[in-house]
Amino acid sequence: MYDIEALYEAGSVSQAIALLQEHPGARIIAGGSDVLIRVREGRLAGCVLVSIQKLDAIRGISLDPDETIRIGALTCFSRIACNPVIQRRIPVLGEAADTVGGPQIRNIATIGGNICNGVSSADSASTLLAWDAVLEYSGPKGIRLVPIGNHFMGPGKTALNRDELLTAILIPKESYTDYYGHYIKYAMRNAMDIAVLGCSVNVRLSQDKKTFRDLRIAYGVAGPAPLRAPEAEGNARGRPVNWETAETLGKAVIKEISPRSSPRASREFRLHLAEELAKRALRQAVTKAGGTL
Ligand SMILES: Cc1cc2nc3c(=O)[nH]c(=O)nc-3n(C[C@H](O)[C@H](O)[C@H](O)COP(=O)(O)OP(=O)(O)OC[C@H]3O[C@@H](n4cnc5c(N)ncnc54)[C@H](O)[C@@H]3O)c2cc1C
Repeated sequence: MYDIEALYEAGSVSQAIALLQEHPGARIIAGGSDVLIRVREGRLAGCVLVSIQKLDAIRGISLDPDETIRIGALTCFSRIACNPVIQRRIPVLGEAADTVGGPQIRNIATIGGNICNGVSSADSASTLLAWDAVLEYSGPKGIRLVPIGNHFMGPGKTALNRDELLTAILIPKESYTDYYGHYIKYAMRNAMDIAVLGCSVNVRLSQDKKTFRDLRIAYGVAGPAPLRAPEAEGNARGRPVNWETAETLGKAVIKEISPRSSPRASREFRLHLAEELAKRALRQAVTKAGGTL
């Protein structure tokens, strides 16, 4: 049933890297909630797996001395949702984590696996994009820091080299201070369903809450990879916090996305959702920031 040629268990990050170098076609397995399905379906038949399950050093959430939030790649979604650092500083990531699968999946599925899959529907991806997260890749030459915007290279493809693994997700203090966010996952069912479209919005308002100092908007399933809408974001900066700005944002984002038709939804429906969810997520983010829309 599970056609696996060999399974190696890494005892450290450096051993995981060495195993990836020794076995060039090998694939990392973290929680296994994606990999094992692909093995069972035959899409990864006969593969060599390198398990990183025992690497406690890359599991958990902490604050660096400069208040960068450090999320270990092996942290599972249920831990993210209830973590006090997340709840206090970037609660929207916990809310997005809570939309993944059911409780069993959230207990096993890791945030690293979610974004290393390279799938557009990954629920944590758009939220991390909207936080300007920085990814820590570890490989034979040491650590590389890669902005998450450069990580997604297309369906199933990331910027990770074959002998590298993601060890942490970093959210610098300046990326989250005074920002408030909201994530909306539109799916056919409330639980255990992949997003038809996901939309994550972060705002930073002026002190009097009347002007958008900054706005970030990111989507899942609106293109071959999770994406931001930089022109729409730029247009909204410095604009008043009112419904006209929200309407303009909704119209602008659909020029920057390219959803496809799939059995879950047509391209036209996804475009309609993208406009509507932009406005709804914006309204919620503004409310959380203490403004009114
Ligand atoms: C029933 C069910 C429901 C689901 N529902 C959702 C949902 O609602 N939303 C959603 O987004 N996803 C969902 N998923 C997909 C899946 O659970 C997530 O993508 C999960 O986060 C993957 O994490 P994992 O640790 O299980 O990854 P794995 O399956 O172990 O690995 C996934 C991929 O990432 C690579 N990888 C893993 N960790 C690393 C690392 N640290 N460095 C480099 N590469 C790495 C692996 O080689 C593999 O290619 C669901 C899956 C199932 C089975």
